[in-house]
Amino acid sequence: MYCNKCGNQLDFDAAFCNICGTPVERDDQTSNLSVEESIALADKLKTRYAQLEKLEREVADNEKRIAGPLNLNYRQFSFFRFYWKFLVFAVISFYVLLIIMVATDFNGIVTFLTIAAPLGFIITGIFLAIKRRNEENYAISLGNEEVRQQRKKLEEKTSELKKTLNARRKDITEFNDIVPAQFRKSSSMAQVKALLVAGKVSNLMEAFRLLK
Ligand SMILES: [Zn+2]
Repeated sequence: MYCNKCGNQLDFDAAFCNICGTPVERDDQTSNLSVEESIALADKLKTRYAQLEKLEREVADNEKRIAGPLNLNYRQFSFFRFYWKFLVFAVISFYVLLIIMVATDFNGIVTFLTIAAPLGFIITGIFLAIKRRNEENYAISLGNEEVRQQRKKLEEKTSELKKTLNARRKDITEFNDIVPAQFRKSSSMAQVKALLVAGKVSNLMEAFRLLK
């Protein structure tokens, strides 16, 4: 609301301009409403502000989730954690076969196995560890991709929500002349409605003055 004479911005319930002193002529759209109509209007506004607030919360929650880190808990593949068993097998097989080799007076096959078996464990272990590492890396990349997809969906959903929110905000601006900025929320409109229902005020502007 602005002063007709000097253009100063006025408080919603000002009787005079605080700059030039001109009496404020108000064209109060709600003072001709009956109490029942005022209650209905307060109720309608309460619902619409509540919808707006819900959307705002939802958008804020989503934006917080989008801004957060990609939440994938995985343990980096440890080559040694996988491989140590093969080393143990290699060492045990070497000593066992060594004893047999000596006991059999360097039997040809046992001598060959004393070298071949530990080597077999060492090489097989390396081969399996590399295979496992590749499998785990692949699983991690799949997991990351899934998280990325979910993030993308959330971003799309949030941008739709924002569009709805902006449209709703625009819709409700038609009531900005009636409702002062500090009362544009569902809780305030619930108080206004309660005052009207209790018969303490007879229109919205009176309720705002009382609540201020
Ligand atoms: Zn003025």
